[in-house]
Amino acid sequence: MVGLTAIFVAIALLLVFIIEVALYFVPVTTEAELFSDWLPEDLVTVSPADERLYQAQLLVDRLASHWPEAPYEFRVEIDDSEVSNAMALPGGLIIVTQGLLDQVESENELAFVLGHELGHFRNRDHLRALGRGIVISLFFAVITGNDVAGVGIKATDITLRGFGRKQESRADEFGLAIVHSAYGHVNQASRLFERWDEADENSLAILTYLSTHPQPGDRVDNLRAIADRDGWQTEGQITSLNW
Ligand SMILES: [Zn+2]
Repeated sequence: MVGLTAIFVAIALLLVFIIEVALYFVPVTTEAELFSDWLPEDLVTVSPADERLYQAQLLVDRLASHWPEAPYEFRVEIDDSEVSNAMALPGGLIIVTQGLLDQVESENELAFVLGHELGHFRNRDHLRALGRGIVISLFFAVITGNDVAGVGIKATDITLRGFGRKQESRADEFGLAIVHSAYGHVNQASRLFERWDEADENSLAILTYLSTHPQPGDRVDNLRAIADRDGWQTEGQITSLNW
């Protein structure tokens, strides 16, 4: 009995592993198509008429225009949540929380947060972060021809896994490059993290973002080093937010 159970568990784990690997090789066009209208089950969106939604989508479109070969049509949604977070989800969906929008003080700060998420799409990190349960549900959705919308994936299942240090620093590098292309300078790209670094460590408002991203002080240092290395202007006109 024990032997048989062990064999079943081994086969199940092997299957999950194969599916996980296979998912990573799903062509990006298929991924974009499968998830074109998908939204996480636990997302509470703000009103479609919300000015911040409109402005954030405009900003993502502008940033993405500096990545012409991007295989996604990026969609922005605002999560009606007080905690700060931003995440890259399958199909080119970027979710930012109201809590994060409350924290940013200029368009330049927001542009870097969004550019960082674009970096995760560029490296397809967002697929690697899918949990095993989600992978299995997706597998059945695909083989039964069901819509992935019915799978009931929660954003929290995906994002709580977070990314590795290397994936994060690559996303930061891409984000800074795209901000530099869009503005011609990187002024205030890391201002948000400077403030967070100086702030009270126990601030609940920023805890969630910090649990899924590197320490703000480290990021500030890294971003400075990148700008230094590539000779990018750290002074330049700041664009204010239109809300
Ligand atoms: Zn990240």
